[in-house]
Amino acid sequence: MEIKIEKTEHPGKLGNLDDVAFGSVFTDHMFLMDYYDGEWHDARIVPFADFHIHPAALVLHYGGEIFEGLKAYRTAEGKVQLFRPEQNIQRMYNSAVRMALPLFDKEFMLEALIKFVEVEKDWVPSGFGTSLYLRPFMFGIDPKLGVHASKEATMCIIASPVGSYYAEGINPVKIMIEQEDVRCVIGGTGEAKCGGNYGASTRAGERAEQQGYSQVLWLDGVERKYIEEVGAMNVMFKINGTVVTPELVGSILPGITRKSIIEILKDAGIPVEERRLSVDELVTAMKDGSLEEAWGCGTAAVVSPIGEIAYDGVKYTINEGKIGELTQWLYDELTGIQWGKKEDKFGWITKID
Ligand SMILES: *Cc1c(COP(=O)(O)O)cnc(C)c1O
Repeated sequence: MEIKIEKTEHPGKLGNLDDVAFGSVFTDHMFLMDYYDGEWHDARIVPFADFHIHPAALVLHYGGEIFEGLKAYRTAEGKVQLFRPEQNIQRMYNSAVRMALPLFDKEFMLEALIKFVEVEKDWVPSGFGTSLYLRPFMFGIDPKLGVHASKEATMCIIASPVGSYYAEGINPVKIMIEQEDVRCVIGGTGEAKCGGNYGASTRAGERAEQQGYSQVLWLDGVERKYIEEVGAMNVMFKINGTVVTPELVGSILPGITRKSIIEILKDAGIPVEERRLSVDELVTAMKDGSLEEAWGCGTAAVVSPIGEIAYDGVKYTINEGKIGELTQWLYDELTGIQWGKKEDKFGWITKID
């Protein structure tokens, strides 16, 4: 399918991002494509604008929505590049399967994403740590209240320039183990990147914030015994020299940052285990000091060190509340590849220009 391009007559300008909240300013254009009659139609890049939506549209009632998040980076030489974009497209495809949304041609979507970034490349900020955040998403719009799989949908990509996540330095966060709400269960939609998972998890995050914590640490939804994720990030612990991260049992989002870190650790010969990790084992490791480092990982923050974990009203400090040596090294390795300061030895970079 050909991608039509209609440029705006009122182009905006990339301003200073220092005091801009994450994801609150958008570029000039968006990518759109419509699904009906069993096919995708009219792929186009058009001026950024509001949607018109039928009040009975499926997404507004039954939550038929999936999304992705990735970044375009500007290197010190001024070039624009993406980090493993084919992984995001594959995950979006898997999410569409799980949510009974229309499937799409993965190669075509990757091409559309790249073309969109080419059109918006002047919006990719320069400066280490800054990026153009890309948000592909799809939602069902069938204008009927009957519950069924979506037969009409909109595919869209929007983009938002973002400043450095760590403008004030990498400060370890305090997190709280959530004991009431659960994010999802095996067989549910935890593996899919869908808006519904966020709808279910927002309350716990808000309550944690009121108590002075920046995220919750989720336990599995059945036994409330195994560690799953931290906020909207995957989580890793360095215990006695070995990195332990929850295995992808079906209720955990398969993060691309998580996968990349595992590959970097294996390549460096650092022991890493993907397995179930119980909250009891974690508490024991915090008490006896064998928990050396802990961090969350995801596209937005890359790596987010954890300095304190609260459980059952008890607070445990990790690595004296400071960022660990391995956490810092992983941050440097990943961001080095993403911003083009380090050799792309795993072949993860897609160059745009
Ligand atoms: C997106 C997301 C992640 C991180 O995935 P990345 O591909 O590394 O950005 C982790 N957990 C949840 C719930 C997510 O939505």
